[in-house]
Amino acid sequence: MSKLRIAVHKFASCDGCQLQFLNLEQELLTLAERVDIAHFIEASSDLGEGPYDVSFVEGSVSTPEEIKRIRQIRQQSRQVIAIGACATGGGIQALRNWGQHEAFLKAVYASPEYIDSLEHSTPFSDHIRLDAELWGCPPDQGQLKRMLADLMAGVTPFVPGESVCLQCKRQGNVCVLVAKGEPCLGPVTRTGCGALCPYQERDCYGCFGPQAGGNTTALGRRFLGLGLSPEAIKHRYRFIYNWAPAFREASQEWESKDITYTPLPSKKEGEWS
Ligand code: SF4
Ligand code: SF4
Repeated sequence: MSKLRIAVHKFASCDGCQLQFLNLEQELLTLAERVDIAHFIEASSDLGEGPYDVSFVEGSVSTPEEIKRIRQIRQQSRQVIAIGACATGGGIQALRNWGQHEAFLKAVYASPEYIDSLEHSTPFSDHIRLDAELWGCPPDQGQLKRMLADLMAGVTPFVPGESVCLQCKRQGNVCVLVAKGEPCLGPVTRTGCGALCPYQERDCYGCFGPQAGGNTTALGRRFLGLGLSPEAIKHRYRFIYNWAPAFREASQEWESKDITYTPLPSKKEGEWS
């Protein structure tokens, strides 16, 4: 059986998702025996041209040139898999989508006329068809390995979509929302991190993005009951996955001046401690 020909492509990003491949360390040697890593700028200057069996794409689309490039990659690749928060949700750089693009350019660059960037930072799914998405900032190595194994086995890659709470409960973590009154985003955030933050007794801040069907309004009301202002609740949703539709809409909802939601009960002094 011929080896899978794999490419890893970088767009607007910090490179952290690509690093998850390199962080596989010893397993990387096994991987290199089983797949042909044809194009991976961060790992090698020996760059092979397409076609590829699988292209992993990291980063968001931020320039007109990047739109052309991702379309070209789609044409050259049997499967395209988006990895990371930038690739699946626009990333932290999508915070610029909420402001004035021209004003940012003028504030940052001495000669903004030379900068050719798009008004919005967007995920790849806005531009091409994707075969799978691996969420997280950065994605979890366990999920990455599972995806590589699925691809090598020729089966449809599996990405779990449940909330962090389920993983948290299975691990037996004490709930920081209930026990400490911390504004934990776990109930509306997709799993994959191993409930790392609650395990460390801190609240989840949503770096794996929205879980399908999460009730962001109810959780916001719970945060209101904990004493957070609508502005603070807006900022909870407007962070790493601010441009993913569910968190985008939730942040807009809490930005509205017309909110009249009743807070869900807050913790009383000494209660649940
Ligand atoms: S998702 Fe996070 S780790 Fe990956 S490139 Fe974007 S900012 Fe970096
Ligand atoms: S700590 Fe957060 S993620 Fe864990 S069960 Fe409580 S609300 Fe859910």
